[in-house]
Amino acid sequence: MLLCALLRRFDISRRQPCPTKGKTMNEFDFIRTYLAAAERDRSVLLGIGDDAAIVRPDTDRDLCISSDMLLAERHFFANDAPQDVAHKILAVNLSDMAAMGAVPRWVLLSAALPELDGKWLDAFCRRFFAVCREYGVSLIGGDTTKGGLAFNITIIGDVPKGKGLRRSGARAGDDIWLSGRVGSAAAGLQHILGNAALPPALADDCRQALLHPIPRVRLGQALLDTAHAAQDVSDGLAQDLGHILQASSLAAEIRLECLPVLPGLAEHLTQPMWRQCVLAGGDDYELLFTAAPERRGAVERAAADAGTPVSRIGRIRKGRGLTVLDGGGCPVPLAVSGFDHFA
Ligand code: ADP
Ligand code: MG
Repeated sequence: MLLCALLRRFDISRRQPCPTKGKTMNEFDFIRTYLAAAERDRSVLLGIGDDAAIVRPDTDRDLCISSDMLLAERHFFANDAPQDVAHKILAVNLSDMAAMGAVPRWVLLSAALPELDGKWLDAFCRRFFAVCREYGVSLIGGDTTKGGLAFNITIIGDVPKGKGLRRSGARAGDDIWLSGRVGSAAAGLQHILGNAALPPALADDCRQALLHPIPRVRLGQALLDTAHAAQDVSDGLAQDLGHILQASSLAAEIRLECLPVLPGLAEHLTQPMWRQCVLAGGDDYELLFTAAPERRGAVERAAADAGTPVSRIGRIRKGRGLTVLDGGGCPVPLAVSGFDHFA
């Protein structure tokens, strides 16, 4: 372990000049220069710089804890702009807090970096801390190692005791709701990969959805007293709705024409690709939730308060499995329902 650590530190200390100081930057320069000054709220008794952080949670709240790993060439492209990478890795973690209805509080950032490139890190950290500020989270620690570009964020949030939104709470008869739009990020990826040719304005919107997902944090919190079950759509709508159905032991029917999709997208993709993007694309980071039909007004008020559009896309039923109906009421066959790293 020690040898390994020594080699690692030796390695990383012979890196790029540090633009802020005009000398090479090592791991500890990086932590001191870029991370140690992280803003933090009063709940953080001890932040970056010790063996562990100390935080003081509010005693009347439950903690929600989640972790997401993002690897270059799997979750983002290694040559993506550093600010886009920073945005995305935080947004996908914030989205998990949104799905629980939690207030995000603290994050830990573990980074494997091929080199300590001051310019890259500067842009990365600026955006990282800007997003932290926007959502009120404090960076309280992490780890830095040399390696292929990869990040892991652990995020901790809190909810009023007993109120966290779960996948298992859906009830037969519930409406199924979805925030924002689905399919744009997947269409953006197909465009970047050369499998689709979108006109410039549409391509920009789709690229924006892929690079800058908006975590629906305020909406999640606003739904705490209204939603029965919730989850964020990260791996494809059909697959992620399947998780709610599995956890709640129920079935569902959704209608293709009710799905919120970027206008114009259907005209520029083949029908199979459009359906695949919308139903199974992934990377949407929208909130999928269920609520009783009597609570439609409350859902709409929560959406208005959060400033996030929501659409009613279907209904939870007794039984098992998901049925997607097309405009004519016929079931749509699903080739793949979502993303699986090992499929
Ligand atoms: P250790 O030897 O215990 O792993 P380190 O020397 O790696 O400690 O880290 C020193 C301090 O810097 C710790 O508080 C750690 O949480 C923090 N830290 C290291 N890397 C990061 C990072 N990428 N993001 C945030 N904090 C970091
Ligand atoms: Mg460490």
